Amino acid sequence: MAAALALTGCTQTVTGQGRSERPDVTKVAGLEITTGESGAKPGVPDADLQVENGDGGEMDRLAINTLADVEEYWAEQLPARFGKEFEPVKRLVSYDSNGKGVDICRTNTAGVANAFYCSLDDSIAWDRGELLPMLDDAFGPMSVVTVLAHEMGHAVQYKLGDISGINQATPSIIKEQQADCFAGNFFRWVAEGKSKHFRISTGPGLNQVLATMFFIRDAAGTSAEKQGAHGSAFDRVAAFQFGFAGDPTRCAQIDDAEIKARITQQKFDSEDRDTGQGKGNLKVDDDRSLELLEESLRSAFKDAAATPPTLTTSPAAACTDGGDTSPAAYCPSTNTISVDLPDLVKIGTPPKRGQKGGIGDFAAFAEIASRFALSIQKATGYGLEGPAAGLRTACLTGAWAGTTNQNGAKLRLSSGDLDEAVAELLADKSLIAADVNGTVVPSGFARVEAFRDGFYQGAGLCTRKYAG
Ligand SMILES: [Zn+2]
Repeated sequence: MAAALALTGCTQTVTGQGRSERPDVTKVAGLEITTGESGAKPGVPDADLQVENGDGGEMDRLAINTLADVEEYWAEQLPARFGKEFEPVKRLVSYDSNGKGVDICRTNTAGVANAFYCSLDDSIAWDRGELLPMLDDAFGPMSVVTVLAHEMGHAVQYKLGDISGINQATPSIIKEQQADCFAGNFFRWVAEGKSKHFRISTGPGLNQVLATMFFIRDAAGTSAEKQGAHGSAFDRVAAFQFGFAGDPTRCAQIDDAEIKARITQQKFDSEDRDTGQGKGNLKVDDDRSLELLEESLRSAFKDAAATPPTLTTSPAAACTDGGDTSPAAYCPSTNTISVDLPDLVKIGTPPKRGQKGGIGDFAAFAEIASRFALSIQKATGYGLEGPAAGLRTACLTGAWAGTTNQNGAKLRLSSGDLDEAVAELLADKSLIAADVNGTVVPSGFARVEAFRDGFYQGAGLCTRKYAG
């Protein structure tokens, strides 16, 4: 985040994308939250698709089974949704980026750890040597399915032509958002049990898919307008979720106007300094930072007309009715938030390249904000326990984040902050989406969705939508 030095430029209006109906808080986009196995279904014979340059190994079989199922999905959806026949892609090419390069799409693949769709010859290619095994090791086989379903999303958008509004001149961020959304469509179908080769649980399974989207995000500070931009994690996960919750026609609608209104990815600006914690990261245990945070929270929730909680960094007094959560705990009976500074610093310190570490300043501040959001819920008569309280908390924390993205905010959202929120929300112990006892809603998908609802639509929506 950044402490604003002066009032800044023009107003950016963001239109909401969330659905206004009340969701069942025990579900994920209307599906039961499941915790079973994710990955290849056992005992299903491999698909029989022609592949160029393959080695017949595990990664190629995973890729081929994926593409066979994704093509089956689109062969069903294109006629049903758009009245168009689906033509399978013309070429599937496997390569090993560590081996001898092959020429595909005017590119030599030597050293190219990637997967891509090429509209020139209607081909999908993947790196079986480096990229696919790396994803598989880090996030499991469904991460490979995620990346290839995204590539097929590009094939679909070219095949749709005018219907998708995509052509060679379309800015990359629009193409990428559509492809992420189309990947979300396919995953809904997998989650509904319709894929021949794969299965996924809507709890831990989808968490891994969203973690994959986080992993392949653009670096903080990348402009959405940059040619080649794929999107921040916050924006990529949003597109995937719109696809998962909606159908392919929703994705085909993603256009320049929607992107301009919704996309949060931004460059660093002149106020984002490097505080020694990386650009756009304040020191979280600094008195001034905490003062700004408190002011910003009071201002964000002033409409609730609630007595603001007291923030303390001295050791917490015993609390008879609150949770023992860290780095911040809310005690309802005393209306106090106790902050454990050493723990806060751990979360607020971003990892150095290749090392383990915390997340960043926004994640740390948002955890305090989540406890503040509980005090607002208490003051306005809502319960503080259970999944509805967890989702309301995530939503209200998102609403606070939204106010830090407005003109005149003294504690201001900077590039990369919302991705820190996504990382925190996908962690096992996400306090942002936890009730007063620290009990987390079991679906990362639902947690991120609730936070985003609040971010775009404000606090009013949170109590309406997540009334519980
Ligand atoms: Zn792409």
